Amino acid sequence: NAPDIKKITMKRVDASEVGEEKVSETLRRPSQKSAEAIMGIVAPIINDVRLNGDKALLSYTHKFEKATSLTSPVLKAPYPQSLMNLPEETIKAIDVSYENIRKFHAAQQDEKPLQVETMPGVVCSRFSRPIERVGLYVPGGTAVLPSTALMLGVPAMVAGCKKIVLASPPRPDGSITPEIVYVAHKVGAESIVLAGGAQAVAAMAYGTESVTKVDKILGPGNQFVTAGKMYVSNDTNAGVSIDMPAGPSEVLVVADRDADPAFVASDLLSQAEHGVDSQVVCIAVDLTEQHLQAIEDELHKQAMALPRVDIVRGAIDHSVTILVKDIDEAMRISNEYAPEHLILQVKDAEKVVDKVMNAGSVFIGKWTPESVGDYSAGVNHSLPTYGYAKQYSGVNLGSFIKHITSAHLTAEGLKNVGGAVMQLAKVEELDAHKRAVSIRLNSLAKQ
Ligand code: NAD
Repeated sequence: NAPDIKKITMKRVDASEVGEEKVSETLRRPSQKSAEAIMGIVAPIINDVRLNGDKALLSYTHKFEKATSLTSPVLKAPYPQSLMNLPEETIKAIDVSYENIRKFHAAQQDEKPLQVETMPGVVCSRFSRPIERVGLYVPGGTAVLPSTALMLGVPAMVAGCKKIVLASPPRPDGSITPEIVYVAHKVGAESIVLAGGAQAVAAMAYGTESVTKVDKILGPGNQFVTAGKMYVSNDTNAGVSIDMPAGPSEVLVVADRDADPAFVASDLLSQAEHGVDSQVVCIAVDLTEQHLQAIEDELHKQAMALPRVDIVRGAIDHSVTILVKDIDEAMRISNEYAPEHLILQVKDAEKVVDKVMNAGSVFIGKWTPESVGDYSAGVNHSLPTYGYAKQYSGVNLGSFIKHITSAHLTAEGLKNVGGAVMQLAKVEELDAHKRAVSIRLNSLAKQ
């Protein structure tokens, strides 16, 4: 095939010319496959693993990963050194990232339990406990994704989760990439499930002869993984929760006249290379035609030099540059879009952070490419996509923790609050509730 030489360029929309409705329409995410069709594929896989355990799990790994020589679906800790042989510089990079992610997530720990005396003698408290068993999905049979293993495993370890189970599709020879084994070792994961897709999710949700059942499943993945997570979290028999709905990666860059065109283009491309369904958006704040052209030229030039240029073309096809007059308009559009990643390449960028209402993670100023957040800065890269940044947080220490509340009353406290409780119980016609208070107040009256 002749190479595709068509200029790689994002369409332009001038917000002042087209109006709000058209801007929202341009920013619609590329549509996803119907949830029903995917559920129809994953439901039988999940039920098979739930009923037939290891045997079914292995059969899907043989089928999808072509790892036909695999005879056991689980690798248990301690992991042999021979499975973690890595170049010194890779070990160093993982160690640096691990330490930064650990520091940032350790700082998210509640300092002490919260305690409030709401009335004299009525003490309400809140304390946290780790989720006991967590299952962390690390996507990709062929791709090497130690960063995802770190972003999920380190906070789980910091939170104090007793059992950390990693799952990742093995390579066709049945092995798992040494980077992932090394991360599993560092975070103290008890096992690695050598499986992917809905079958791996099912194995962790229900448990099998050799896979430990978990209480929560976290991590990104393709549509089969996502549908699998949704399915098991809706099954009350599984007793498992999930982190958040996941979709293709996206970035929104806000650039003003201070922005370096080459930097802007490099940030847009670093998301566009994720997949053809990724979306990248550039909001150009009062840029001259010359500046806009410089960004477009850089985008084309840098894209053509990427090995994943074909993927980039697909992503750029549904990506857009929006021209706006000022930073307030830029931030209004950004907040409405609620990007997974928001990059602020503008003058006094840290001041603009006050205007951010919806975003997964923000990258401030020209020296902060989004890729530092993907790997090593310390912030988490498992973030809400598809506009879910309006209501979900990215993975953080809290994702691995439950908050438990407690109430502790003295006799005086019960006297103080009892009247309100009895009256509301009366309104709701729940007599036993009322009696649980009155029986105690009567007992106090006799003392
Ligand atoms: P994956 O691990 O998500 O999925 C692989 C599994 O998909 C296979 O094990 C198989 O079980 C299942 N599968 C494939 N075809 C199937 C079919 N026809 N029927 C049933 N099941 C099928 O790996 P992937 O496919 O490479 O996808 C990776 C995903 O993760 C991408 O969507 C990417 O955007 C996302 N991702 C996220 C991050 C991140 O946020 N950290 C990083 C990289 C990739």
